[in-house]
Amino acid sequence: PKELQQPGREVETVCTECGIGCGVYFGARGGRLVSARQNLSHKTSKGRLCGKGRFGWGVLNHPDRLKTPLIKKDGQFVEAGWEEALGLAAGGFSRYKGGGAVVLYSPRVTNEEIYLALKFARAVLGTSNIADAESFASRAGLLDGLGTTVGSNAMTIPVRQIERAAGHFVISSSPTESHPIIGFEIRKSVNKGAKLIIADSREIPLSRLPHIRLALRPSTELALLLGMARAILDEKLHDEGFIRERTTNFDAFQKSLADFTVEKAAEITGVPGAQIREAARVYATSKPALLFWSEEIAQHPTGQDSVRVLAQLALMTGNYGKPGAGFVPLIGRSNFQGALDLDVTHPWSLVSKEKVADAWGCAVPEPAGSAENKAKAWYIIGADPVTKAADADSVRKALSEAPFVVVQDTFLTETAKLAQVVLPTAGFAEKEGTFTAVDRLVQRVRQVAEPPGAAKPDWWIICEIAHRMEAEGFAYNHPSQIMEEISSNYPAYAGISYDRLDPEGLRWPCPDKEHPGTDVLHESEFFGLGKAQFRPLQYKP
Ligand code: SF4
Repeated sequence: PKELQQPGREVETVCTECGIGCGVYFGARGGRLVSARQNLSHKTSKGRLCGKGRFGWGVLNHPDRLKTPLIKKDGQFVEAGWEEALGLAAGGFSRYKGGGAVVLYSPRVTNEEIYLALKFARAVLGTSNIADAESFASRAGLLDGLGTTVGSNAMTIPVRQIERAAGHFVISSSPTESHPIIGFEIRKSVNKGAKLIIADSREIPLSRLPHIRLALRPSTELALLLGMARAILDEKLHDEGFIRERTTNFDAFQKSLADFTVEKAAEITGVPGAQIREAARVYATSKPALLFWSEEIAQHPTGQDSVRVLAQLALMTGNYGKPGAGFVPLIGRSNFQGALDLDVTHPWSLVSKEKVADAWGCAVPEPAGSAENKAKAWYIIGADPVTKAADADSVRKALSEAPFVVVQDTFLTETAKLAQVVLPTAGFAEKEGTFTAVDRLVQRVRQVAEPPGAAKPDWWIICEIAHRMEAEGFAYNHPSQIMEEISSNYPAYAGISYDRLDPEGLRWPCPDKEHPGTDVLHESEFFGLGKAQFRPLQYKP
């Protein structure tokens, strides 16, 4: 960025450009960000910072940042004061209480802001139509694919343990590009002798390392994974002790693969059967081994099945509950994990729905229904579905036809252009809060610079609209108070508070105020399940 200069002061915080959460010192001068420097003692990044972390902050100084609230008059935006804009937002939403509203939020805002968005939707607007707008399609794969099998939906180990794996299987994802520090850890591990399998229809930066290449046809991941599972069974490479002690339903799983041969997998994927068998052999005999996959798999129509096979490949080979073992979901959005953790409705939620209903004074949360033909008012927090949704045209149509749309964002996005009220928000280094990294590490992000003009943090805006709608339970002076409420409602976050997050953060599950956090998931049992559950699998094109 051209404003790069010597800072007047530096603040220790966390990069939120991707889900790794590297430690960074942002520098400010005159209330503006002017520099970024690596944090040598950060427990994940240990002094590393990729190009996005080093220079991505420049976007906060962009001249097009929203600086004042905007309201639409005669089809044109005019600047407004906060009082007028908040009054309009509250008045508009008041007309659609009880089910006519939809709330969309971005997984790039803080945990506290996501929590308030959920609470506002259910307790104030009375709607269950609330969703993480950017990673909606990945969630089904994660929630159903992983949740039904192992009872959780998160990376099994800390990023720093990646180098301890003896084998890495990377399928249809490019860690170096989506999560650069994870790419670095894989490289380090392979340079020390770990095996690498890459299943992708393209070359990726990691392809420069020695590896077994499975050049599958696009969108044939499910067949490849089923073929590998079958090859492991054929060669009896599965971990019988682990399967007996820690899992159920293996026989049904085994039977379901009876008709799906390695040759069939080879025919569908275009990968020779010998290569599929070799990859299966290397994955199953590398102890411990890790699986890396991304939304590219999770978003397929067969995404849930593919994720379920991945979870079961790890189960078959005993790759759970040990340092360096399990899987690494590489979902791009920075606070995707926090958004998933805080969701109150999915079956593998970290929260008791009844407890939340009681605390919020609302009905027991139901999963989001179809908003079709019902959405009258839209409240969109930091998300840009008109640009990013898979079905962007229908989102644009729905927003264009909706009687009332409020968008809060840092820029006048394509979505914001369709709103009646636009509220300017503080960016990631202009507010306080927490983010949950891909490896479950909850860390504080801190205010380093001033938001431009009249921009305000998302949490403040949600609370101000709630006050104007005479809602109770939104009187917070600082995000730390919101985290106190989160920890009282979400058992996995129960031991987390701002004073305990300094200096290194805490990795959930952290069930009480003395608990040091948990590095390795599923060491003794699978959440809510006790034993992991194998599921029968079937090939679907
Ligand atoms: Fe930021 Fe991710 Fe790069 Fe780390 S790896 S510096 S968190 S973008």
